Amino acid sequence: MAGTLDSTLRLDVIIIGAGISGLATAIETALSGHNVTVFETAEGLHEIGAGIQITPNSSRILQRWGLSNDLWASAAEPTSLTVRRYSGEVLAVEEDWKEKIRAKYGAPFIEFHRIDFQTALYARAIELGVQFRFGVRINSVNFETGEIASQSGAKIRGDLVVAADGLWSLCRAQFLPKDFEGVPRPTGDLAYRLVLKLDRIQDPELREWVSNPKCNIWMGPKSHVVGYSLRGGTEFNLVLIAPDDLPSGVSRQAGSVEEMKALFRNWDPILNKFLALVSSVKKWKLMHRKEMRRWIHESPNGYFAFVGDSCHPMLPYLGQGANSAIEDGAVLGRLLGHIQSKEQIGKALRMYEQLRKPRGDAIVKETFGQVTIPINPLGTIAPRTIYAPFPIRWCCPQVQPWLYGYDACVEVDKALFTIRGQ
Ligand SMILES: Cc1cc2nc3c(=O)[nH]c(=O)nc-3n(C[C@H](O)[C@H](O)[C@H](O)COP(=O)(O)OP(=O)(O)OC[C@H]3O[C@@H](n4cnc5c(N)ncnc54)[C@H](O)[C@@H]3O)c2cc1C
Repeated sequence: MAGTLDSTLRLDVIIIGAGISGLATAIETALSGHNVTVFETAEGLHEIGAGIQITPNSSRILQRWGLSNDLWASAAEPTSLTVRRYSGEVLAVEEDWKEKIRAKYGAPFIEFHRIDFQTALYARAIELGVQFRFGVRINSVNFETGEIASQSGAKIRGDLVVAADGLWSLCRAQFLPKDFEGVPRPTGDLAYRLVLKLDRIQDPELREWVSNPKCNIWMGPKSHVVGYSLRGGTEFNLVLIAPDDLPSGVSRQAGSVEEMKALFRNWDPILNKFLALVSSVKKWKLMHRKEMRRWIHESPNGYFAFVGDSCHPMLPYLGQGANSAIEDGAVLGRLLGHIQSKEQIGKALRMYEQLRKPRGDAIVKETFGQVTIPINPLGTIAPRTIYAPFPIRWCCPQVQPWLYGYDACVEVDKALFTIRGQ
């Protein structure tokens, strides 16, 4: 592989799924000069009406992609990160979070509305010439020939097929032996997700919370809650984690507001004031899967790679699922910009797997570490100190630099440099 982006090679790259991992892979692969077609079951973007936290490891990638000014203008950038006991008492606080994060990592920690974010990724992909085929469900993948077939029976072949089809990945199910693979497994937790709008809030204290973006995490027995502002401080996003009581086989359902309020009744009064404004809420079962042995497949006629939740679904406790998916897309797409012939696709895929799989798997494990911190009703964190290892990984002096300091471009360039030096 040569270390240049000036190859005239134009691969036909097929991506299955237009979620964040599919869009990220599409953008970086198109930036590398290849033809990209994305197949998506849904009739349009599969956006969820909720917030998403974008950490420096991926915001530095987004800064390079030329996304719209409207998206950046819609961001909320928290000025502090506060960890509270469930009752509201501050356990630890990082003031000047915004400035500290930018100074340490050279990129921001920001919060977007998912609709704004996915719409902006999609618009950029279109600008770069990516083709989208909505309303097309891919039904089968032939890993030896690189051919995929849609539900209607149409057969499509690409030089490379990328599975970006999420937690319930059909590609993964067809790739792995049946005795290894089952359905996603419950973690024992679920998430209530809701967004409140500032113009519907009268209480001055709540209005102050929403319009001055800050990130708050409440830790309680068997539950925790994350609250942050969206859309420049005009909306407020809450994710409330609680023990899973959804029936088995049900992964999403409209939740009961009264039931949710009852669960958090003894928590911080400010949190309860927010919950009093809620008229509807959704419940999401949090699921995981076994670690995969391989994320790629090579055969003489077909090349295949997995990205995002299809290969490393994780608990949302570190806010890293989408951020990792963006890292995957950036690394894979950038490597594809350095190949000179189709014969080198395999080499690029092997490098992709070497660069991404250890980190992806390690982040998954770390999300489980976040679950198991001992949180008794009195709390176990010494008040107002942040030390290493700190149980809240977001501000842990050991884990944070590892999560947020990762630079996908540098990783690819270092790996290529090493190869060239051999
Ligand atoms: C409560 C909660 C909060 C979260 N908060 C954060 C956060 O703050 N930050 C963060 O980084 N991550 C967060 N995450 C995780 C993040 O949302 C996911 O990791 C990420 O969205 C996964 O993207 P994906 O593209 O891999 O999968 P998906 O979003 O599942 O996309 C897969 C796409 O593939 C399509 N598809 C599936 N099968 C087929 C097929 N056969 N043919 C064609 N198309 C198909 C689907 O329709 C879908 O559009 C959170 C998750 C939860 C549950």
